[in-house]
Amino acid sequence: TDPAIIRNFCIIAHIDHGKSTLADRMLQKTGVVAARDMKAQYLDRMDIERERGITIKSQAVRMPWEVDGTAHALNMIDTPGHVDFTYEVSRSLAACEGAVLLVDAAQGIEAQTLANLYLAMENDLTIIPVLNKIDLPAAQPEKYALELANLIGGDPADVLRVSGKTGEGVEALLDKIVRDLPAPVGNADAPARAMIFDSVYDTYRGVVTYVRVVDGKLSPRERIQMMSTKASHELLEIGVSSPEPTPTQGLGVGEVGYLITGVKDVRQSKVGDTVTNLAKPANESLGGYQDPKPMVFSGLYPLDGSDYPALRDALDKLQLNDAALVYEPETSVALGFGFRVGFLGLLHLEIVRERLEREFNLDLISTAPNVVYEVKTEDKKMITVTNPSEFPGGKILEVHEPMVAATVLAPNEFVGAIMELCQSRRGHMRGMDYLSEDRVELRYWLPLAEIVFDFFDVLKSKTRGYASLDWKADGEQISDLVKVDILLQGEQVDAFSAITHKDKAYSYGVMMTQKLRELIPRQQFEVPIQAAIGSRIIARESIRAIRKDVLAKCYGGDISRKRKLLEKQKEGKKRMKMVGRVEVPQEAFIAALSSD
Ligand code: GDP
Ligand code: MG
Repeated sequence: TDPAIIRNFCIIAHIDHGKSTLADRMLQKTGVVAARDMKAQYLDRMDIERERGITIKSQAVRMPWEVDGTAHALNMIDTPGHVDFTYEVSRSLAACEGAVLLVDAAQGIEAQTLANLYLAMENDLTIIPVLNKIDLPAAQPEKYALELANLIGGDPADVLRVSGKTGEGVEALLDKIVRDLPAPVGNADAPARAMIFDSVYDTYRGVVTYVRVVDGKLSPRERIQMMSTKASHELLEIGVSSPEPTPTQGLGVGEVGYLITGVKDVRQSKVGDTVTNLAKPANESLGGYQDPKPMVFSGLYPLDGSDYPALRDALDKLQLNDAALVYEPETSVALGFGFRVGFLGLLHLEIVRERLEREFNLDLISTAPNVVYEVKTEDKKMITVTNPSEFPGGKILEVHEPMVAATVLAPNEFVGAIMELCQSRRGHMRGMDYLSEDRVELRYWLPLAEIVFDFFDVLKSKTRGYASLDWKADGEQISDLVKVDILLQGEQVDAFSAITHKDKAYSYGVMMTQKLRELIPRQQFEVPIQAAIGSRIIARESIRAIRKDVLAKCYGGDISRKRKLLEKQKEGKKRMKMVGRVEVPQEAFIAALSSD
């Protein structure tokens, strides 16, 4: 294909502004999906994506579109919209020359509109601003066209207005993509260089890798090489999605398509890596390759201990399709055998958990998620702590915690409430700008641990749902952090240990000891519950003893009755875990650990 007729673009938008719906409409208008085959969100293939209405894995599809009598090939690259998957978004953007910046005409610019726009600008993309949902009675296209024009420059009258729902304006948008976006440029005679922007595991075909060719050409049956690992593979199939996979005789400069090499694990075909020819390799990769870095860790344990091997198999299978998923075995006094699993963020955690439960039929307990700390001990060693129970005892010189750069957008009446919230989460304000008369952008530097759990929910409730949030990892800081342990009758319960800021240790201790007092049934003897930092007790509760011993009733009585009673007790103990002498029902652990 002649690069001059190719246009590579993506649609970027805040979540729910209508990206998937618009993509569907484009598929229909260009004729690649017949109206009768159309199902909502055609491109969001995974069930979970469709149910939650979010796009996790980006996909690329090729659409024909004629302008002024010339046939063009439009490659639309769908990007995931959630912060957990920012790296995948940025790789998808790097595969394009332009971006359609889609904004809900009833909502205006939101935090992820900005975050995605900045990523697109970093990649030097041409931006086409578009207002969507103009069919809504609440749409205010004039107001938001002005907001958009203020943000990216240009005339508000040039902002296209469309409806992904009714199809209005979609053809004009396709024309504009052809007219305004530059065609790809590359060196057709150079050694091949293609960037991987997605790779998906398929049960039947193995890993399907999506690439954008920058230079040279890739052809079927030749051997290719991954530039980051030097691993080489034979190209079994190469083609384009339109939207079903269609094999071709190769991919040249500017083309977007898929490769199949027969590898079975997406980690052998990494997003961001460069593919070249083995026989004539390029000298320099396209750059920007980055290993996905887990930000949040949680322990996953099967409710039924005998499911442990099944859980391991399930994680192995999920990893084939999720390069960001990492895990290693771990044991807990309270919960038995399980895994410590690393995630990109809480949404990623939820999705993995849901897939394990749904696709693999597992019942799981997950421990409260935590971030990763670097701890410097007295002998100047740095220890990476992914589980609070690994936090070293003894003297500690420094604890480093991960930080994020966060952006909050909201109507200006909420500025006070947002500042108060960020303050209480140990945030440092970095700046504040007015996007329009009544909308403000606030920038904060915040500890990841303070925003990763309930921050967004609290933010939403304090702003009546109007605030939007975006964040990205941004360095670390040294903080006054301590480990709080929970002890039952003097015995430490690993699963309940938490790392908190010194000022919040007391409230964590009180909260946890009270929760456990409610959850653990009374025993034959009094059970003290304590929260401690090292050997210093900071909170205490106690569960009073049951006054009458079950056996006391039949003291001196007949022995068979006594045995029966003991038998019955044993029955009830099956679902109990012993912590020292204390029997704790499994439910108590689950209830105390559940993060929701
Ligand atoms: P995404 O998160 O950006 O992919 O957004 P979706 O395409 O999933 O759309 C989010 C919601 O907005 C869905 O309920 C859509 O039906 C609705 N929606 C999308 N486009 C339009 C539109 O043009 N008009 C109206 N009225 N609703 C739309
Ligand atoms: Mg979507």
